[in-house]
Amino acid sequence: MDYSVIPSPVLSVLDELKKRNYQGHIVGGCVRDIFLGREPKDWDVTTNAKPEEVLAIFPDSFYENDFGTVGVKVAPFHKDGRLDREHDVIEITTYRTESAYSDRRRPDQVSFVMSLPEDLSRRDFTMNAIALEVRESDPSAEEISRVVDIIDPFHGQEDIRQKLIRTVGNPEQRFGEDALRMMRAVRLYAELRDANDETPSNWKIDEPTIEAAQKHAGLLAHVSRERVRDEFSRIILSHSPSEGVELLRTTRLLEEIIPELVQGVGIGQNLHHTYTVYEHNLSALKHCPSRSLEVRLASLLHDIGKPKSKRGDGYRSTFYNHDHIGARMTKDILHRLRYPLSVIAKATLLVDNHLFYYNVGEVTEASVRRLIRRVGLENMKDLMDVRIADRLGSGVPKAKPYKLRHLEYMIEKVSKDPVSVKMLAINGTSLMSDLGMAPGPKIGAILDVLLSEVIEDPSQNSKETLLARAQVLSQEDLATLRDKAKEVIEEKRADDDHGIKNRHKVA
Ligand code: ATP
Ligand code: MG
Repeated sequence: MDYSVIPSPVLSVLDELKKRNYQGHIVGGCVRDIFLGREPKDWDVTTNAKPEEVLAIFPDSFYENDFGTVGVKVAPFHKDGRLDREHDVIEITTYRTESAYSDRRRPDQVSFVMSLPEDLSRRDFTMNAIALEVRESDPSAEEISRVVDIIDPFHGQEDIRQKLIRTVGNPEQRFGEDALRMMRAVRLYAELRDANDETPSNWKIDEPTIEAAQKHAGLLAHVSRERVRDEFSRIILSHSPSEGVELLRTTRLLEEIIPELVQGVGIGQNLHHTYTVYEHNLSALKHCPSRSLEVRLASLLHDIGKPKSKRGDGYRSTFYNHDHIGARMTKDILHRLRYPLSVIAKATLLVDNHLFYYNVGEVTEASVRRLIRRVGLENMKDLMDVRIADRLGSGVPKAKPYKLRHLEYMIEKVSKDPVSVKMLAINGTSLMSDLGMAPGPKIGAILDVLLSEVIEDPSQNSKETLLARAQVLSQEDLATLRDKAKEVIEEKRADDDHGIKNRHKVA
């Protein structure tokens, strides 16, 4: 085992504790990761010193949470951290057990215990319940060498060798105490398994642990949505996101997280698809080329509106409007899971626009500008990634990536053209100073009309032309102006939608 990966600030923390006759062990995910040869994400230390005592020993330390975990600030040592950060944090937790979780959300109280074995027994999985004791051996030797004792009462090393995720103790009881552990099992599975290994020797969850999850999946409803969200995000961002979501389904946990996805199970599509709606959503997630959370969520949810919009059966079924229905559903789902508003807005936008029509030769530069106006230039790359996920996940490799490459070229080409009010050659101030218009809502309405016209013909985007046109428009009343802007947008939208309609039959 390669213990040289233990960073020296961690060793110093252990030394400081020992100097004062406290115990100190490295424990949890980082020990698991050492045995797996993975770079640990964070380093956790457990001790018999009480939180106040830990705070007193380390001047640069602070309470991390309500459970008495103390964070100690040390010089940066994480290799993958941001270079400009001032410090890294080592988390020190006092040996403890968690008494009953009567509201199934939080332990009623955290009780400190005297021994390491008791602390290890409250941990979730055998591979997360291994502790390392670092001792200095033979101080007379020229170089002080470190000897590491492994404390592994639940045979976590053996389970790591067998690639088995297994609860410490009885799974039903452990899931009854904290239902989030069921999701953690799936998350660890999705993170640890080798995405390219289809053999039985890949990671798996112990059978009784799976069965206990199937039996107690309903308890997840009692867990705070934020905790559920965080584990779900990690599953989605792992190397095996679709296998993770499928395991959520077979353990019945998905029903408690996104039941709308389960509604796509067994829903056949039409002659252009070999997959059911659920299979296709999953396959799109699997093939999503992006590592961004919003894009992965959108890939998973892009066809979430299909079960609701399905009309007809068999080869001729249609799914009109599933993009917009799906966007509303996406918004509701992500709200429910307490995602930040920025994540919700982005994922919803991507689902809403995932059917954008694009055929080389058929689509005008103006319609590409309209698409950019609707979606935002900064979101175009992500929208294309959702489309790539959709296409690769369709099971029918109608590989036409040249279409997307051509669109990329068109986007580049029109990207300097005005697609937002900000990019017009005049602004509200010039309407007031040059035309003497009074401040008010009419200013914005005129700019909207100007933009809709400039999108059709960018050569009009000069100060003189726009001022002359604004002079004419300023004679109109506000309602007429608003209608005008809408008219242009909707008339053109109908053109674009005509293409989309054809896509609905195949997408
Ligand atoms: P990673 O840091 O890679 O996310 P981890 O296993 O370190 O994985 P953390 O959430 O950092 O996960 O938790 C640290 C340790 O605390 C775990 O290894 C485990 O021993 C224990 N633990 C975390 N959550 C629970 C839980 N819900 N029930 C029991 N023990 C838990
Ligand atoms: Mg950790």
